[in-house]
Amino acid sequence: MGGVAQRQTFMSAPAARGPIVTIDGPAAVGKTTVGRMLAESLGFLCLDSGLFYRAVALATVRAGGDPDSADDALAAAQSLRLRFAPDPSGQFAARAFDGNRDISEALVSPEVDRTVSLVSRIPAVRAAMLEPQREALREGGVVALGRDIGTVVCPEADLKVYLDASPEMRAQRRWKERRENGGQMDIAAIRENLMARDRIDSQRSIAPLRAAPDALVISTDSCTPGEVVRAIRSAIAARGLIREC
Ligand code: C5P
Repeated sequence: MGGVAQRQTFMSAPAARGPIVTIDGPAAVGKTTVGRMLAESLGFLCLDSGLFYRAVALATVRAGGDPDSADDALAAAQSLRLRFAPDPSGQFAARAFDGNRDISEALVSPEVDRTVSLVSRIPAVRAAMLEPQREALREGGVVALGRDIGTVVCPEADLKVYLDASPEMRAQRRWKERRENGGQMDIAAIRENLMARDRIDSQRSIAPLRAAPDALVISTDSCTPGEVVRAIRSAIAARGLIREC
């Protein structure tokens, strides 16, 4: 993986697996940026669990189903042959495949943004996605991003982080990111979408968005991604999982 650290062998993992660091938090808080930088600096894989739910939303819409219908969303979830592979560009970010089809780009479309929180609040969809997520974390050596990774999917993680930031800051960041990727979205529409998703994600009855009781909570409003990564690395080092030079 040219120019970046190789995936690592670990100093002192608690079990037979490598360390697992979870980063949960609301939409556009910086999980992906921080998670990828952190994963790269550690030689870990960065796995974004939102991709599981985005894949279900995409498959539901592509099949002509209703993302608010448990039957349609579950049928779509069951039709997926989801797998993840390290990005060949060496970014330590996992790309998503349905069978042999790379669906990574399609998963970040505005249509998926609009529908993903609807499918992800359906208990049967969450149940169907639980085991595949745990399987993806089984070997460790992973920075896992999401809403409920530290609380439900992997409460035994070695370090749980919860990132937070104001809606204004998050809308601005998402707008910049979409613009850099060639997207043309109004910042007010982005803010509205984020707020709607936050509402659904934090109020749903199953696995709502919240910090694990033992999570390291970091507000990213006035921090650069590099500062957040350094804070997380210090916490990882304090647990003896890596040695900082
Ligand atoms: O992180 P991302 O914006 O890609 O997540 C998309 C959506 O997937 C979230 O708004 C949420 O509805 C859902 N999600 C979830 N649980 C996770 C990760 C994502 O419900 N662990």
